[in-house]
Amino acid sequence: MIDLLNKLTQTYGPSGNEELVREVIMNEIKEYVDEIDIDPLGNLIARKKGDGKKLMFAAHMDEIGLIVTYIDKEGFLRFSNVGGVSQYYSLFQRVKFKNGIIGILGYEEKIEEMKDLKIEKMYIDIGAKSREEAEKLVNIGDVACFAGDFHYNLNKVSSKALDDRLGCYMLIEVIKALKNHSNDLYFVFTVQEELGLRGAKTSAFSVSPDYAIAVDVTDTGDTPGSKPMALKLGRGPAIKVKDNSIITHPFVRTLMIDTAKETGIPYQLEVLERGGTDSGAIHLTKGGIPSGVLSIATRYIHSPAEMVDFDDVKNGIALLTAIAAKEI
Ligand SMILES: [Zn+2]
Repeated sequence: MIDLLNKLTQTYGPSGNEELVREVIMNEIKEYVDEIDIDPLGNLIARKKGDGKKLMFAAHMDEIGLIVTYIDKEGFLRFSNVGGVSQYYSLFQRVKFKNGIIGILGYEEKIEEMKDLKIEKMYIDIGAKSREEAEKLVNIGDVACFAGDFHYNLNKVSSKALDDRLGCYMLIEVIKALKNHSNDLYFVFTVQEELGLRGAKTSAFSVSPDYAIAVDVTDTGDTPGSKPMALKLGRGPAIKVKDNSIITHPFVRTLMIDTAKETGIPYQLEVLERGGTDSGAIHLTKGGIPSGVLSIATRYIHSPAEMVDFDDVKNGIALLTAIAAKEI
């Protein structure tokens, strides 16, 4: 099980470059679904047919990245962000391009104060001697993502891109685990969430479900000095009440909470003060689609080493499977 999560997180897939991730997912699920389709923007839409309500689950395939804007004559690369890249998390980290080239994020000045860090003063050092040498390997517009290894210890998983390969992984496991269901189920692996929920917007329009649930990571309040927040690693998957993009529809919230209670799966309630997920776009589609989010409490989001508790993941898969199988 955990090997698949490892493979998903380590696959290259910044926003707009999701095809390798899509390939991994496609190979995993094709035996278990009735229909599979790639839409014009690149969303992967898989269906497990049923006569009942149309239910859409969504998880985004893309991760944040750094896009090359300029190569100087010494061969150092300047970049801009693709999604929410933090200069604090990036400094002196390794990044990886699609062709496997590794770069290190350096800084052009002596750093006196961390708060003065600016992304414009950072560069990617791939070890090239000159612009000519760099250009043989990397072009303007190429995107790198963090190179953060996958580790498992003390029942915690840490890696880059748990946001949101973890959600993709959970949906794959739900697809594999589901036996009987009457709902008409759509599992959508979306593109470009980190750039503003773009793939969710178009796929929700074409699927046009009765209800939708996004699966994504969320913050915690359980590390030294963290801002007070009710979420902790290991206390169960989180049922979102509100974030910046959505207030969970009462029907969906009740459905999720009731299913957790009936099945004895532990859960936490989440109010996230900043940030949003695919459901933010989905619920505003067409005449409105009642939507919610199942989140996994995650430390160090958008860093090269995000961390989750694997029991939360397993309980999240169990809860999603029970919701998918429930007649609504
Ligand atoms: Zn995410």
